[in-house]
Amino acid sequence: NKTANQMLVIFGASGDLTARKLVPAIFNLYKGKHLPENFIVLGASRSNMSDEEFRQKVVHESSYLKDRVKAGHEDFIKAFSDKLFYEDLGQEYDTDYSSISKRIKALNEKYNTEDNFIFYFSTPPNLYEVIAKNLSDQGLNDETKGWKRLIVEKPFGYSLDTAKELNKGLQKYFNESQIYRIDHYLGKETVQNLLVTRFSNSIFEPLWNRNYIHHVEITNAESVGVEKRGGYYDKSGALRDMFQNHLLQIISFIVMEPPIDASAEEIRNEKVKALKSLRIMKNKKTLEKNTIRGQYLASEIDGKHVKGYREEDDVHPQSMTETYAAIKFYVDNWRWKDVPFYVRTAKRMPTKVTEVVIHFESPHHQIFKNSDMNNKDNKLIIRIQPDEGIMIKFGVKVPGQGFKVERANLDFYYSSLSEINVMEAYERLLLDAMQGDATLYARADEVEAAWSFVDPILNYWEKGTDVRTYGYSAGVWGPKNGDDLIEGSMGWRNPGEH
Ligand code: NAP
Repeated sequence: NKTANQMLVIFGASGDLTARKLVPAIFNLYKGKHLPENFIVLGASRSNMSDEEFRQKVVHESSYLKDRVKAGHEDFIKAFSDKLFYEDLGQEYDTDYSSISKRIKALNEKYNTEDNFIFYFSTPPNLYEVIAKNLSDQGLNDETKGWKRLIVEKPFGYSLDTAKELNKGLQKYFNESQIYRIDHYLGKETVQNLLVTRFSNSIFEPLWNRNYIHHVEITNAESVGVEKRGGYYDKSGALRDMFQNHLLQIISFIVMEPPIDASAEEIRNEKVKALKSLRIMKNKKTLEKNTIRGQYLASEIDGKHVKGYREEDDVHPQSMTETYAAIKFYVDNWRWKDVPFYVRTAKRMPTKVTEVVIHFESPHHQIFKNSDMNNKDNKLIIRIQPDEGIMIKFGVKVPGQGFKVERANLDFYYSSLSEINVMEAYERLLLDAMQGDATLYARADEVEAAWSFVDPILNYWEKGTDVRTYGYSAGVWGPKNGDDLIEGSMGWRNPGEH
């Protein structure tokens, strides 16, 4: 795809995300020769910095670029950093943007970026609407000459109402087609590969329904705690931080019907339909039975003491915020009727892993008695991170007398495609937005459908007077009550165990 000449303007450019993810992603795009001939970045925020100071901060002194750049390539680095500029916004974001607008226009003239601008909002979300308004006041939403796009960071809303408000706020000044809501999970190869696995093979899709799938399980585990983000996390929790966005995006890819083509609108239409078909849990009894929250407790890991969640910096000592969430739900449509979905996301787990496990029905009539496969179904495992890949577990005969059956694995790992440079999520997503491809960005109705499912759970957890937050030791797979969510002897698949 051809990428038009353009300028990327980052609001909140003095922040962590710009230095840690955005500039390194742009650098990689530059290195991989994916940037158009005329391309520049203008960072903007309230901090006072010159162009040169900004370049020093995000390129020359950047610990995130250090490993990517071989020593002795100073000219190359300099050529890259010459593309970066900085504009001080003054005291507040809610200010007159005539001076940044002048700068944008001057840079546009000088570097011939053809009036094509991406505005990346990397500030706290309460500023998104204000920035959009101020850009619009300067005519910087006008597409008569060149295009104008917004990329907005997560979190997109705090609840259904706030997400709707945010959508409305942005749509006052920009058209929906100009708005790109980023979810970096969608930039991951394996998440995209879910679509390819399902819709470009004939071996999976015929089985992808209630007739052959027994249940679906998703685990998203982090081994770390909240680290320095205690203040933010305590107001958010696992459900808002991971489930409402990243995990529901993955779920929509698993649940969706085949789109009529691979265009952004068709794929997103099907995703919205999928999200709308998740059964919303309305009454207390259902919520009580199907949702479990937990919090990690102080513990020893590898002989080292780790703090409990409530002792973390900036966390309220009686906080009920969940660092573990496990949800069981159903999807009310033809394909998925009665198939349970189990999803858990948590911090301070034994390892960092995200995987989807599709559990197939056992053969309805077992002829091999005493088989090791009893109670071990066929599984399709989609590993999102780390070691991205796809694994199939199936039964094979053990050589020798009789019919002893054992499980074998058919594994594919992306790392085996070593000659292919797998783009990092932000790289891929930025390049898509630069080319006007919104397939991997969330649309307004999609975000609202996701919140519609999550809102009642949050309300129940936050307003219910008798909802417990179960403690679990750091370094285990969550509280026992979460384990019990999966009925019978099946249990969760704890990656690495079986
Ligand atoms: P950050 O380090 O706090 O930077 C945000 C920038 O926004 C600051 O440098 C600050 O610049 C500006 N700002 C304006 N008003 C502010 C206020 N009241 N408090 C704090 N900063 C304020 O945040 P970040 O990590 O770069 O993240 C930027 C956005 O992306 C946030 O909305 C965040 O939720 C989202 N996000 C971040 C990550 C991540 O990995 N870091 C991941 C996903 C989403 P000036 O003071 O110079 O104007």
